[in-house]
Amino acid sequence: MTPQPRPRGRFAPSPTGDLHFGSLVAALGSWLMARHRGGDWLVRMEDLDPPREVPGAAARQLQALAAFGLAPDEPVLWQSQRGDAYAAALQPLLDAGLAFECRCSRSDLAATGGIHRACVGGGAGRPAAIRLRVPDTVIDFEDRLQGPQSQALAAAVGDVVLRRADGPWAYQLAVVVDDAAQRITDIVRGADLLDSTPRQIFLQRQLGLPTPAYAHLPLVLDAQGRKLGKSLAALPVDPASPRPALSAAWQFLGQAGQPFAGTGSVDAALARAQAAFDPALIPRVPHGIPDVPVSGAVHET
Ligand code: GLU
Repeated sequence: MTPQPRPRGRFAPSPTGDLHFGSLVAALGSWLMARHRGGDWLVRMEDLDPPREVPGAAARQLQALAAFGLAPDEPVLWQSQRGDAYAAALQPLLDAGLAFECRCSRSDLAATGGIHRACVGGGAGRPAAIRLRVPDTVIDFEDRLQGPQSQALAAAVGDVVLRRADGPWAYQLAVVVDDAAQRITDIVRGADLLDSTPRQIFLQRQLGLPTPAYAHLPLVLDAQGRKLGKSLAALPVDPASPRPALSAAWQFLGQAGQPFAGTGSVDAALARAQAAFDPALIPRVPHGIPDVPVSGAVHET
């Protein structure tokens, strides 16, 4: 029997604001899942899109993770420094005609609801995006939390942007290249990305990369039952007071007991949480948040 690789999980925030409760849930959930299986946990900074970045947010997110005791086992990987790896992954797709230059504008694609199935002409002189050609194919996978998933790729998402016309590498390419480069075996993240997973699996196959296991955590809803925005005014958690926020994330993950109660170090509390963690208790459906202590200002981005 081939030995199973040691499990490797990751947390991959985008520096579009301070660490908020939804990201703490993803960070703690991915950390617990990795540790529960005796695996490593990595952090990757998805700083691909300078205009959407909030100055200083990446550093503050990393400081917050440190304050929450969530220390990665390897140096943080910064996507802004990975352009050569993305270019190297893209070239064979271009050579094989699996990726192509596209000058369609948003309004060119209005008739198909923004979904690209073929270039509609025009656009000469405009900078080109690079898209992955998506055939009429159905991608099925089993999500460890959300169960069996199926997406007819061409109908649902069309040809996927790999590099934007204005320059930045697209998330879909970067995430696939970097999950493989970091040898991630177990992806645990918010259910807002469930819908992106089939195109990532398709791209993994086109690039000859392995497909990790996926578990999508339920979305966090605010007191009005609305989804907490990824970069909108989601409540930043207070790194100066890690235990109450960790405790709220623990409850959100449906876990029993109160490993974060009392005094003592955050590391000791996390060790208790790791020992008590039961993945079977994680709820599947979106739900609200317990009272989370937030830090002073709410970030509008
Ligand atoms: N950077 C993405 C985000 O913050 C997450 C990517 C991922 O976990 O695959 O939404």
